[in-house]
Amino acid sequence: MRIMIDGRYLPGNARVNRDLLITLRNMAQMLKWGIRYDAQRELVLINSKDSSMPPLPLDNPADERTEDENARLAGKVICLDPGHGGSDPGAVGPTGTREKDNTLAIALLLKEKLEKNGATIVMTRDTDTDVTYTDATSKEELGARVEAARQAEADMFVSIHNDSFTSTTAAGTTTFHYGGKDSIKLANLVQRSLVENLGTKNRGARFASFYVLRYTNMPSILVEVAFISNPVEEMLLSSVDGRENAAESICDGILKYYKV
Ligand SMILES: [Zn+2]
Repeated sequence: MRIMIDGRYLPGNARVNRDLLITLRNMAQMLKWGIRYDAQRELVLINSKDSSMPPLPLDNPADERTEDENARLAGKVICLDPGHGGSDPGAVGPTGTREKDNTLAIALLLKEKLEKNGATIVMTRDTDTDVTYTDATSKEELGARVEAARQAEADMFVSIHNDSFTSTTAAGTTTFHYGGKDSIKLANLVQRSLVENLGTKNRGARFASFYVLRYTNMPSILVEVAFISNPVEEMLLSSVDGRENAAESICDGILKYYKV
């Protein structure tokens, strides 16, 4: 979002969010400046001499809704981490499907949905590759994923995985967090949405000391969408519909987290 005062651009580009718009509007009202937000051009126009300019669309519920529909997550940077990749296939299902393919497919669908809502997405990987280099240690690999989120100054970190167990009857969805208040809230909302939409067994939103949760300094979760070792859930994870449904559910949980 750019800000223009009396026809001149203010240097820099701010992230659009509701709080900033409200602050600018209140400031303009106190100073008796004119202010207007042009959502199409993502531009705040300020006129210090003419307070008769129409107010920000925030005063108009109809305008606010239109803007919200396209930009509900505007200004949010979300880091998506498809588990495994490249030389690390992750878990392998009974028919040979691989966790790394399922996690990437779901993450790419999720990226699309979040971008439609105005979010900026950073992917730790967006092809079938190691994040660092072939045959890196898991610590190097996980460190690079955390670093990607840090460098992007992400507002949220979402790691996507498939669960696996020696018994093929183990089933269900789990969302892990590292205990922070916001991470717990996010985990609960994403978990609920996934279980409701996928119809999987609810294994709960739970604490875990996973590297990517421990070292990320923003709200972060690790989603075990379903068990790749379970023949029925393997189908869910490798099918177009199942992946679409999983991505939609995670997106829905994130929107609820931001209350938009
Ligand atoms: Zn995994």
